[in-house]
Amino acid sequence: MQTKYEHHLAPYASRSSDSLGRQHAESAPATRSEFQRDRDRIIHSTAFRRLEYKTQVFVNHEGDLFRTRLTHSIEVAQIARSLSRNLQLNEDLVEAISLAHDLGHTPFGHAGQDALNACMKDYGGFEHNLQSLRVVDTLEQRYGAFDGLNLMFETREGVLKHCSLPHAKELGAIGQRFIDRKQPSLEAQIANLADEIAYNNHDIDDGLRSGLLTTEQLEQVGLFLRYQSEVHKQFPGISGRRAINEIVRRMINALVVDLIENSRKNIQEARVTSIEDVRNAQPLIAFSGAMKQEAQELKRFLRTNLYQHYQVNRMTSKARRIVTDLFGIFMSEPQLLPNDYQLQNEDMLHQARKVADYIAGMTDRYAMREYRRLFAVDEI
Ligand code: MG
Repeated sequence: MQTKYEHHLAPYASRSSDSLGRQHAESAPATRSEFQRDRDRIIHSTAFRRLEYKTQVFVNHEGDLFRTRLTHSIEVAQIARSLSRNLQLNEDLVEAISLAHDLGHTPFGHAGQDALNACMKDYGGFEHNLQSLRVVDTLEQRYGAFDGLNLMFETREGVLKHCSLPHAKELGAIGQRFIDRKQPSLEAQIANLADEIAYNNHDIDDGLRSGLLTTEQLEQVGLFLRYQSEVHKQFPGISGRRAINEIVRRMINALVVDLIENSRKNIQEARVTSIEDVRNAQPLIAFSGAMKQEAQELKRFLRTNLYQHYQVNRMTSKARRIVTDLFGIFMSEPQLLPNDYQLQNEDMLHQARKVADYIAGMTDRYAMREYRRLFAVDEI
């Protein structure tokens, strides 16, 4: 049954037939592959719909055209599928990983995650990758037979992109690769780099749209400058959004083409013939040395000029206060938690985890509304 969806794949691709399977046994799907089933379960999850109202860099209400975590995840899936198809890897698996990779993100992007991690310091910390796994493994409640979405091992492995060693030791099979220093599937490696290509490029686009970045500033970035000259040569007099779109699409294309060519070379040189070989090899999905440097230059530019822009800092500061104050009040007055999160004689450790799950699940606007409901004297 499975082979009809996977017969075209390279020997080193992930296949349902070689999979380490699901935590709870289920019969094989009749009309789709196992990884397509995973993708479908992710799309139908509550956590996936929440991504629409969660910040990437700009808070959800700041403008209708900025990326949200939902549109970001769709862009990641598009880039990852394109990479995957060119390398004869499992597109269904990369799509599932890409769409699920940010499910555990808190409201307000990295500011929210850092604040929640600081609040959880004495209770095991908070890591968004680990939380994404927790969402698909336990927090979603949709099926009679099990908690979570009961995804395939390879999908879960891709979702758990990073993980600290102490946590890896508690996770069993899914954490083992961090202890053994082994690699995940090539599909997981692809989703990881597709994430990077997507956010670096859409942050330029959103940065320019918001007015926090200018094209003159971006001329410091080699990759941008190269395609800016190309676009102006090809279309003299081009300006505004049309010019930006032409430049950004060329940048994405250059990164994608380099990644395909260099990864293909790495795969050939490593002579991998199975997923087992892939797990034991060095990371094989990688940019060429020159492109890696250009991508790093772009990242550095965004860190200094966009992520640390004072207007972004203001939102970051507010986000930190909202998350920290919500955590504080729910820890000291747990009777304020909604019914689903009410405590049943739990110790502090479990109480803190429940509060963290509640806060992490909030959208930006829900967190702001909850903050007002709890702290504003003129709200009920
Ligand atoms: Mg992401």
